[in-house]
Amino acid sequence: MENCIFCKIIKKEIPSNIVYESDSMVAFPDINPSAETHILIVPKQHIGSIQDISKENGQLLAEVYLTASKLVSDYNLTNNFYKVVVNGGKAQHVPHLHFHLLGGNLKRMV
Ligand code: AMP
Ligand code: ZN
Repeated sequence: MENCIFCKIIKKEIPSNIVYESDSMVAFPDINPSAETHILIVPKQHIGSIQDISKENGQLLAEVYLTASKLVSDYNLTNNFYKVVVNGGKAQHVPHLHFHLLGGNLKRMV
């Protein structure tokens, strides 16, 4: 989608330090980290938000969590604190569905 910052990162029109890429997914560090480890897991398909998810996205959502699982291992978070967060509504600032993998010394938010 035009003028979407994450679509531009996916198309490599904006530089980022991509740490994982597959046919359907990218993952890169958040530019303004909220935790020791803060990786954004972003489906390449432009889905705006949780409210735009349909049943056809089932496989894609499974891949999101498989990617999270791999990154948890890669960043040695298995025995540390970690969580996967999705913001929505007024809490969401980039309108391209993405999943925050946060790890390290986390304050318990939920
Ligand atoms: P959200 O509020 O859930 O939409 O989160 C959007 C996140 O994207 C924020 O944590 C931003 O710091 C992050 N962000 C925005 N632009 C970039 C960028 N160019 N590269 C990496 N992260 C970004
Ligand atoms: Zn997009």
